[in-house]
Amino acid sequence: MMSSARVSKADEEHGRLLFAQGCEFVRGAASLDGIPTTRIPEVAFCGRSNVGKSSLLNALTGRKTLARVSNTPGRTREINFFRLGDRLMLADLPGYGSAQVSNADSARWTELIFAYLRGRPNLRRVVLLIDSRRGPLPQDVEVMDLLDSSAVSYQLVLTKIDKLKPGELAQIEAQTAEESRRHGAAHPELFVTSAEKGEGIAQLRAALAALAPP
Ligand code: GDP
Repeated sequence: MMSSARVSKADEEHGRLLFAQGCEFVRGAASLDGIPTTRIPEVAFCGRSNVGKSSLLNALTGRKTLARVSNTPGRTREINFFRLGDRLMLADLPGYGSAQVSNADSARWTELIFAYLRGRPNLRRVVLLIDSRRGPLPQDVEVMDLLDSSAVSYQLVLTKIDKLKPGELAQIEAQTAEESRRHGAAHPELFVTSAEKGEGIAQLRAALAALAPP
């Protein structure tokens, strides 16, 4: 059963403190060689190009460093790693599904992501972003299949909910929940967010803080 996430005030405070730390760029990786070895628990962010990933990462960390690095030409096709102190690594995965991308690029993306997922014992969760105006699209479902087959725990997060008309959210939540139920490795909690209005950000921070050691 999928449900919209509820968190306590204490958990929100843990989340706030975790994300109030400096967020430091570690490095970008275009291939398996570049992926930093670390024992710090890691959360990866993933989604279609334009889904609002940079905006969400900015909202979570309260600074623009992260998105600025990840949107630097040459870095958009890399996995970019950031560190929140010694507690949590954030991996910003390259966006997928852009119409301009060739088959070769798409194959390269899959290869990089497979390599990453295979060799990442510290990976606690993949946050898969879904545009709330569209719900899960075929490419999102392909990525969910890939995550299922890698046995990686992942979580769906709806973005840009401020763009919805009243009443639309419930429908898109139900549709997203239905898709999620078809996937073994999907976490049953759905987060609904607006980077623009700040909705759902504290709750998501809290959920991610629960994956980091105290
Ligand atoms: P990325 O390609 O996934 O990193 O997406 P961006 O964060 O660059 O966002 C793509 C577009 O969506 C930009 O024009 C953002 O301003 C817009 N956007 C992102 N998040 C939100 C949101 O929460 N609300 C609204 N209204 N627009 C958003």
